Amino acid sequence: MTLSGTRREEVRGVPVSPGYAVGTVHLVDRQHLRVPRYHLLPDGVEAEQARLEEAIAASEAQLRQIRDELLASGNDHHVILEAHVLMLRDEMLAGGVRQIIAEQQLNAEWALRMVLRGLRQMFDEIDDEYFRERRSDVDFVGDRLLRNLLGSAHPELSLVEPGAIVVARDLSPADTATLDQHAVLAFATDVGGRTSHTAIMARQAQIPAVVALENISERVGHGDRIIVDAVEGLVILHPTTEELGHYQRLAHGYAIRKAQVDQARFEPATTRDGTNVRIRGNIEAPAETEAVLSFGGEGVGLFRTEYLFMNRVDELPGEEEQFEAYKAVLVALGDEGATIRTLDIGGDKLIESMRRHPELNPVMGLRAVRFCLQERTLFRTQLRALLRASPHGNLRLLVPLISGLDEIDAVKALVAEVRAELVAEGLPVAAKVPFGIMIELPSAAATADLLAPHVDFFSIGTNDLIQYTLAIDRANEQVAHLYQPLHPAVLRQLRYVVRAALAEGIGVSLCGEMAGDPRYAPVLMGLGLTELSLTPASMAVVKSVVRALDAAGCRAFVERLMAFHRPLEAETLLGEWLAEQLDGRVPREVFDPRRGTVREEPTL
Ligand code: PEP
Ligand code: MG
Repeated sequence: MTLSGTRREEVRGVPVSPGYAVGTVHLVDRQHLRVPRYHLLPDGVEAEQARLEEAIAASEAQLRQIRDELLASGNDHHVILEAHVLMLRDEMLAGGVRQIIAEQQLNAEWALRMVLRGLRQMFDEIDDEYFRERRSDVDFVGDRLLRNLLGSAHPELSLVEPGAIVVARDLSPADTATLDQHAVLAFATDVGGRTSHTAIMARQAQIPAVVALENISERVGHGDRIIVDAVEGLVILHPTTEELGHYQRLAHGYAIRKAQVDQARFEPATTRDGTNVRIRGNIEAPAETEAVLSFGGEGVGLFRTEYLFMNRVDELPGEEEQFEAYKAVLVALGDEGATIRTLDIGGDKLIESMRRHPELNPVMGLRAVRFCLQERTLFRTQLRALLRASPHGNLRLLVPLISGLDEIDAVKALVAEVRAELVAEGLPVAAKVPFGIMIELPSAAATADLLAPHVDFFSIGTNDLIQYTLAIDRANEQVAHLYQPLHPAVLRQLRYVVRAALAEGIGVSLCGEMAGDPRYAPVLMGLGLTELSLTPASMAVVKSVVRALDAAGCRAFVERLMAFHRPLEAETLLGEWLAEQLDGRVPREVFDPRRGTVREEPTL
């Protein structure tokens, strides 16, 4: 049942991808499927189980096909599709349905409904935002299985008419495979946050989106005219004629200014006083290399190789598969080259099949280089694949979560061993492969001057450096407001690391999320950084901010900023100062420095 009326209404949500849209609703309705309930005859149980298995197999085949389409089109959501396949076969889901069919002799559709209800309840009780949002994954998988049992069609986003605003409870990564990105003007969903699939996908495709609009999908009807203001986080139902005109003008102005910013994406990011900032891209799959190049990136600054291993249904990638993946990236990038990071498994990037022992505190446990130095066979295989790929382009090797010199020595010794082994086998290896380390632990930051002579470059991972410095779990919503990039403890470490690298004459880059947030560009430049690696969709705007600033001004500003003892005050000062500096040179609709990226702080 929809609650849609005809009265003008405003619904407020969370803007996750900026822009404006005036269009007609394309409703994706996953909630109103009629589910029959009936008891089976005692001899009908077996046939019902077989019907369930058939529907599971059909769902799996569909999901795998969509995964392949996503993979082929360079869309990194394919890993989530892998997770959906796993979920489909999970004991909690399929096992639960089988059990109800057998024990209660109920039909498969109703049994599935019962299981899904229980799972949803379980997810709703989770505190953590990231995990709570994974409830949508259960919904997507459940909906697909249910439709296959019922023989009912799947909602098709390929049928969206041009000029549509897609309204849904939430969108699944599978939806993106069929989505016609040119037809869709905006997204508006009931649930979600900045890390939900809809938000990530919308930012990647640069489609305006507002999420967390409560029950918007029940308040609109197919074909309704609505306005999405994804700058303020507002959706207007049944707007007035004046509002339609006003927002059409805003949407038009935004499109022009966004195009101006995008057009300059291939120009170098050179400040007004002539400092060049090198902008590279972060990727998680080889297919994303293309996005880096088309968004104006100068090579890849971080390839997170663990994503090749995550959510794998089949066996883990071996040497040959890895070699092909690394080679493809290097060949595509030519001279610009790629910084490829060795496995960062563990912590929040857990791969179940690789878990050896239960860990009470995995973020401080057997993660990244610690894990690799224990799992030598796995590490060797990766190093072999990397060194074999090295003659095909410009490879820089990066090792995550280094805490001290012993680990550097151990990894270097292993690299030398693997190199000698390959040479003995008659395989070509590049004469020089620069060796770098992630600076993402306070121990590495505090000893950067001691580590610098032993490596060719540093890559600063602020996501973890902030997490470990401030003891703020980066995936825990409860403490998200304390995740403060401008905390003096963070700024001091960044300054120390950059100075140590410059003093030793080695390269230094920054590849955490901070690099992709245009607000922090002057801070990073002021600290002396001239190499950043970020998500492709943010490159154009970060470059345009860099071009509007001067490096000497940024350095002087950072000195002022470092005198602030309170991060929130520093954030405010930064917003004011940056707005003044940009002075309209970067359109406010595209990037407004006064609109903070710091999360709302709950009253203490
Ligand atoms: C970081 O920690 O900032 C980083 C880039 O690594 P990841 O986000 O992959 O942990
Ligand atoms: Mg990290």
